[in-house]
Amino acid sequence: MADCSQIRKFKDAADYRKNFIIREEVNKFLPGGKHFIDEVLIDRCIREIAEKPADPVKVREIIAKSESTCETLLPEETATLMAVTDKDLFEEMRQAADRIKHKVYDNRIVMFAPLYMSNLCVNGCKYCGFREGNSSQMRRVLTMDELKEEVDVLAGRIGHKRLIAVYGEHPSTSTEYIAETIETCYNRLVTVPRTGAKVGIRRVNVNAAPLPIADLKVLRSVGIGTFQVFQETYNRKLYEQMHPSWSVKGDYDWRVTAFHRCLEAGVDDVGLGVLYGLCDWRSELLATILHARDLERWFNIGPHTLSFPRLEPASGTRIPEESPYLIDDDTFARILVIARLSVPYTGMIVTARESPASRNRVINHGMTQLDCSSNIAIKGYSDFANESHQEKERQQFMLGDNRSIDEMVRYLASRDIITSFCTAGYRCGRTGGCIMDALKTGREGKFCKINAVLTFREWLDDFASDETKAIGEKVIASELEGIREWLPKFYPTVMEQYEKTCRGERDLFF
Ligand code: SAM
Ligand code: SF4
Repeated sequence: MADCSQIRKFKDAADYRKNFIIREEVNKFLPGGKHFIDEVLIDRCIREIAEKPADPVKVREIIAKSESTCETLLPEETATLMAVTDKDLFEEMRQAADRIKHKVYDNRIVMFAPLYMSNLCVNGCKYCGFREGNSSQMRRVLTMDELKEEVDVLAGRIGHKRLIAVYGEHPSTSTEYIAETIETCYNRLVTVPRTGAKVGIRRVNVNAAPLPIADLKVLRSVGIGTFQVFQETYNRKLYEQMHPSWSVKGDYDWRVTAFHRCLEAGVDDVGLGVLYGLCDWRSELLATILHARDLERWFNIGPHTLSFPRLEPASGTRIPEESPYLIDDDTFARILVIARLSVPYTGMIVTARESPASRNRVINHGMTQLDCSSNIAIKGYSDFANESHQEKERQQFMLGDNRSIDEMVRYLASRDIITSFCTAGYRCGRTGGCIMDALKTGREGKFCKINAVLTFREWLDDFASDETKAIGEKVIASELEGIREWLPKFYPTVMEQYEKTCRGERDLFF
């Protein structure tokens, strides 16, 4: 059980709103009042670089730098990439983005599932179906017994190993609740009907509101994976319009310093994101670069992942349909390529918010993680275990890609991509600063190949349809051949673990 004795408790929503933010834990990271989201610099980059014709020589130099160093670009360099309008030059950028993805992450795509724990919220974000006062939303908080039922479906029937647990912001889903849900997920083991294997959730990432340092230490103690907080928009004026000043989320600086507190607390895998469609995508991406660079400057650790949610229709709001900054699929693809080149080492997540066509298209634009068989209703997995089902009143927004994991694994295999269910990294301490170097040099990409094969083998045997298994076998054979060539001396040890996995042992990793 997590020791929550050091963290503060709140009487009710009003008490929470008034007292939750700890100002010293904001100011500490904005010394001298100087802000790392430099809006003047962002505007200048857009006006003087991104909106001027691109110099192909400069663009190619930046591509080469990104590819060879895997270091985060300067905002001016990212702006130069934004200026590219020529189709052929952009295609060079896309190919470089794909090469970098392969250098850092090899031909893997990591699979995860979202799991919504609660939709009670003290905030009033104008684009979100969960906002307080939206009477069309059916509210609930998962109990631990209900959570176990969700895990039984996710781990035992679908085969997920990695979750992103999502929470509204409310005193009833405090840090204590978040810690208990993480522990409950890790402790639940389920028997797979087909093989009798005992399986469970091995990594719980969290998407929740920013927390104080003491609370983050509690989450660290229960083994949180990545902590995601999306800034929504880095544009302060727009942020204030979207997030009322009476709400906790209305405090821009509390939110934008969320990861500084994480890294200070030792939660060292952090996931940044912007809700694309709220503001000009160029200023959002440039601000993301400034954010990443400030984390690197303070802690020598950058974002473990970047997420690219786009505004989707939600109950009781027209903003997702009417915002003047909505982006089309071409722009979305462009954003991914520029992001991959700008923060070469980071994981890039594209969720089932996207349509199947959009996700298929950007698979070779640098992306590394996706979700499938997703249900974002609270208790959606156990209530609708055998169907893809969506209900606006039970969801934060509507999903675009309802493909099953089996379909997606098969589709990826048809493109010679291995779906990885690996969660070894954080359990072996390969997080934060340790992993940054391994990622930049390409070591992690190769190393994880082995764990990808072992976990793919597990999933094929436990859950795949015959059709998917057949194509999956070809991918495994080619991956094993790659490992044999790359690590001839270590290959027999790998094969030992592989054979054990084939015989039904589970959760073997390097
Ligand atoms: N409540 C926490 C918060 O806002 O930080 C975390 C969970 S919130 C459910 C997760 C994310 O959903 C938000 O950060 C926001 O980016 C995204 N979101 C909200 N409304 C959305 C919409 N209409 N379409 C797509 N994403 C949305
Ligand atoms: Fe609440 Fe998060 Fe939705 Fe805002 S985005 S209303 S904080 S759940």
